[in-house]
Amino acid sequence: PQLANQIAAGEVVERPASVVKELVENALDAGASKVEVDIDRGGHKRILIRDNGKGIDKEQLTLALSRHATSKIANIDDLEAISSLGFRGEALASISSVSRLTMTSKPAEQNEAWSAMAEGLAMNVDIKPAAHPNGTSVDVVDLFFNTPARRKFLRAEKTEFNHIETLIKRIALSRPDVSFILKHNQKVIKKYRAHSETLGVVEQKSKRIAEVINTSFIDSASVFTSKYEQVSIAVWIKAPELCVSVNPAQYSFVNGRMMRDKLIQHAIRQAYGQLLHPEQLPEYVIFIELPANEVDVNVHPAKHEVRFHHARLLHDLIVKTIKDALDSFQM
Ligand code: ADP
Ligand code: MG
Repeated sequence: PQLANQIAAGEVVERPASVVKELVENALDAGASKVEVDIDRGGHKRILIRDNGKGIDKEQLTLALSRHATSKIANIDDLEAISSLGFRGEALASISSVSRLTMTSKPAEQNEAWSAMAEGLAMNVDIKPAAHPNGTSVDVVDLFFNTPARRKFLRAEKTEFNHIETLIKRIALSRPDVSFILKHNQKVIKKYRAHSETLGVVEQKSKRIAEVINTSFIDSASVFTSKYEQVSIAVWIKAPELCVSVNPAQYSFVNGRMMRDKLIQHAIRQAYGQLLHPEQLPEYVIFIELPANEVDVNVHPAKHEVRFHHARLLHDLIVKTIKDALDSFQM
């Protein structure tokens, strides 16, 4: 099973940013309202994620570092309707097989904290008492120390950190209710505070979009929401005359997960139609919510791809919503 972990690690753990992705998703799955991401040297040296989520108890801690330890699938039916972000139960085991990983946790109902450490392909998980507030920390040191080929593929610290920063922006957009802090080499690079749901979803999301993208995007965008049966769409779309031709802001989320999906991109471009010159690119943030069984998100382990069951219908719904949003610029 140890070798299997390392093979799986090749799929899940491409680079520091993929480690950060898995660990932040775990923190969110644990219900954290506060997540801190602390990176040293682009993640080559260290990736430390702290959360204030529900924690993991002493018994489960060792198990979590072993393969297929997911606590998120109660029965086989759940496979059909996966709502939590992770479900494979192999991220932690995979990451620890290519690093020195320490996970420390204190669930609120447990009096003391425990810390489990696993290193590379060693079979044993070392567990001992620790000091830690309610929540969980995962500390990943010396990524790829035992897989030189992969280590060689790491890019400059700055490049790897840029990937992490991009990832954190995307996750932050999807969760305006959670506060995030991103540090690099002890310096705070990004700080997003939590926005309450009592603001209303549009206002709450607008505030986070302003922080992550910029306030001028929000000021020059039209917001539109639509609902058709069980599908809801909220879109922030930029006025066509302000759309740029390089580095456009383009973010799409399906059930809270960031996607670069062809169908969504196509629908948005089609909705703009003649309003854009060929060299201009649409700028948008779009959130699509639909029943979990209407979409397959696990086409690939790293979960970049998605398949919609009623693709045509969804496509047309996106086109219509965006056209309505664009119409509001004409008024
Ligand atoms: P998965 O997320 O697919 O279940 P992981 O390997 O990422 O698999 O995590 C294994 C298990 O460890 C999770 O199911 C969860 O029970 C526990 N776990 C991981 N990270 C955290 C965290 N930050 N807080 C609480 N529990 C966690
Ligand atoms: Mg996970």
